[in-house]
Order: sequence, then C-alpha cells, then structure tokens
Amino acid sequence: MPIAPEPTANTELSELLRAFLAKTPGSKAHASRRNPVLTFPSLLQRLSFEMKEAVYPITVESAEGPRVRDVDGNEYIDLLMGFGVALFGHNPPFVLDAIREQLGRGMQIGVHDVHSGEAAALVCELTGMDRVSFCNSGTEAVMLAARLSRAATGRDGVAYFTSSYHGHSDMTLFRASDDDGGTAPRWLGVPNRMSADTLVLEYGSARALEILEREGHRLAAVVVEPVQRANVALQPREFLAELRAITRRTGTKLVFDEVLTGFRLHPGGAQAWFDVRADIAAYGKVVGGGMPIGLVAGAAELMNFVDGGAWKYGDESGPHSFTTFAAGTFSKHPLTTAAAVAVLRHMKLQGVELCRTLNEATSGLVAHLNEDIERRGWPLRVDSCGSMFSIRGTDGFEFVAGPGSPADLLFYHLLLRGVYVSSQGPTYVLSTAHDPEVVAQVRHAMIESLAAVMKT
Ligand code: PLP
Repeated sequence: MPIAPEPTANTELSELLRAFLAKTPGSKAHASRRNPVLTFPSLLQRLSFEMKEAVYPITVESAEGPRVRDVDGNEYIDLLMGFGVALFGHNPPFVLDAIREQLGRGMQIGVHDVHSGEAAALVCELTGMDRVSFCNSGTEAVMLAARLSRAATGRDGVAYFTSSYHGHSDMTLFRASDDDGGTAPRWLGVPNRMSADTLVLEYGSARALEILEREGHRLAAVVVEPVQRANVALQPREFLAELRAITRRTGTKLVFDEVLTGFRLHPGGAQAWFDVRADIAAYGKVVGGGMPIGLVAGAAELMNFVDGGAWKYGDESGPHSFTTFAAGTFSKHPLTTAAAVAVLRHMKLQGVELCRTLNEATSGLVAHLNEDIERRGWPLRVDSCGSMFSIRGTDGFEFVAGPGSPADLLFYHLLLRGVYVSSQGPTYVLSTAHDPEVVAQVRHAMIESLAAVMKT
C-alpha cells in the first residue's frame, strides 16, 4: 500500500501523518473502498486539504474489555467506548451470555417478548420513575419524551440549551439566533417553521431562567442534558434545582436527557447525582449493553399517554388517559431486552459501588493529568463528571476540534501511542474494564501526546 504524497510543507505535521499512514494502511484501504458508497459525516469536520490523506476512521475488527483491535492488528485502549455505551468494557461476559441465551430462542419481532416487563420494573426501581416505554435509540427516546410532554400540556413549545446534544431529530437541531431564546435551524433540511416553537437558551445562565419563567406558559417541555458531553466542566446543580422549581410553576414538563448520564454517573443517573427529579427522562446507551436501545421513563400521568394508563384484569379498571402515538417495529427487540435485563440486574446488585469505584478511578486519573499539566505550565485543564472527562483550554487558549487544531492533532498522537479516542473533540469515558494498569497507560500516553501538540 503506497504511502500518500507529502501532505503538507510542515515537517512535524508531515512526520505525524506519515507515521499514522504507516500504522493504519488497512483502515485507509477500507475507507477508499467504502467512501464512494457509504456516507460518513463525522469525517467532514476534520477535513482540510493539508490533512486529507490522513482523514479516515480506524476500522475496528474486534474489541475486548477496554481495548479495540483494528484491521492492521493494532490494539488501542479505547476512551470512546461506543460513545459511552460500554460502561462495563467491550463485550462484558454477563451481557454476551444473556444475548447468546436469547439467540438460542430466536429473535422474533412484533410478538411480546419475555424480558421487557422485568427490564421496565428494574428501570423504575433504579430511576424512581413510574412507567417505561422502549424505543430503538436515544434520539427516539427524546422525541417521544417531548411528544408526551406536548400531549400532556396541550402546548407546542420546547426549550433546550446551547451545546447540548439530544440526537438527530429535527426538533433538537436548532441553534440560538439571539440571546432571547430565538432560534434558527442548525442544519440544512431542518424545517425553518419549527423554530417558532423552539427556544435555545444558554445553559446554566440566569438569563435562561428568566426567559423560562417568562415563556414557560407556552412551553410543553424543557429538555436538558444535565452534564453536556460537549462541556463536562459545567455541572450546574443550583441551575437544575431552579429549573425544576420554574417548570413546576409554569406547568412545563422537565425532561432529563439521560442518554449519556443514565446508569453511568449513578444507577439513578443525573437525577440521583444532582438530587433533582425530572417529570420524564430519556435513556439509551449503557442500558442496552451494546444493543441499540432507547427508553423513556416517566411519571405515570405522562407515560399513560402511550397506552391510556395501566389497568388490571378482574376489576372495573380500564384506560383512563387520552393517548398519543408511539411505535417502532424493532422496539423491544428480544436481544436488546435480554441485554438490558442483564445490565439492569447487574446495576441493581452492584451499581452504587460500581459507579463509585469507576468515578473515583476517573477523578484519580484527572487529578494526575492536571498535576502533570500544571507542572508543564500548559494552558489546559481536565474536568470530569463521574466517569466522563474532557480537556479544555484555559487563559484564552482554544482547545476544540477543527482541522489541524491541537485537539485534532491530539487524536493522531493518541492513536499512535495506542489510545483510541473520538475525532469529534476531547471528551472521553472510562469503563470498569479500565483497570489501574490501563489507566496508568492512558495517563502516560495522554501527557506524551499533549507534550507533542503543545510543543514542549
Ligand atoms: N442524547 C444524548 C445526551 C446523547 O449523548 C445522544 C447520543 O450521543 C443522544 C441523545 C442520541 O442517542 P442515539 O445516538 O442513541 O440516537
């Protein structure tokens, strides 16, 4: 496989890219074959002419515990962990066993499966919610939580916050266009007209609370990602408590998007972490154990809009709520529900201790990284929340993804040192499979890589 032509006049960058190309020719060959027929949007933000020859994803063949192995046989310690899915490491045996057992019984769709009732009961027990609905992704879960809020309030408006991510439904793809909640579509193809029903406010700000107090009467829901993947440093406990109080006053439903935080920060998610009760919450990622999943869990008065409310046999009870519409061919897929039961049983038995130990391991790593950074005088800071951590610039130094930026180059340096990260920005997660030895290797690779991008 020929190495690409000299991509840039910058020698240091050329050397970095050359080393990357030499280490990962199989991944590049896969990308060359795939690109004409397979769309791959996440490459776009890293693409520049200078870097182009080295802009391709690592193609992964297999994974185990904290590591992934690429098609060239390189092993990497993974800090992306399925965008936060793999809390127990890749392929945890207790989840694989549950999936294998169910595979032996088949993957019949559309009939009622044997696991979803137990999964729902466990979700209710762990999160304190009343009832649960299954869907296939976090995106769908947020969509359904918003629809149920609209159904229950008879209002159309939805507010959410700058820098949050709530999946890829049209509803959540707006950006702030002024500092008064005004919005515009963030992407082509997102209907402009929906912006009239959408507010995007600055997360954590007093101004946002003021606007919510003023506009709450027309809002069905405030959707919040309590700790934003894009801004882990911001953990606005008091803001969330205020938000709870305001939404109660205005009759707006408080929707926690716990797709990333749920079953990760704590078995009870961000609600338990911040001690703030949402009306309804969207979950995904961890709870599916690697299978595609979304869950909506909420107060009965909201969830009853899915099916009219719970009723019993042998008495006078019956549906007692108006309904809206919720569906999905693949929701409650038996392999997903089997995996979810395995995860939830594990969480019920070990969750509090498991999360505490993992969160402490993460704080320990982050404290060490910050010591290393301070010693070297770099304008950087590592923040963590639970088992998520992220690097940001300080003193006016920008450390964000973008073609050829230090944060982008960090991606290459880490890969060359055997650590796999997202190309979409310096936010990472640990799993319970990242034992102290692996964590020490992460620290070492991270500091060496930062030294290379900070040029010291
Ligand atoms: N909400 C949050 C907070 C997320 O992090 C994500 C995914 O990264 C989503 C929603 C969307 O979930 P999914 O990708 O499963 O549709």
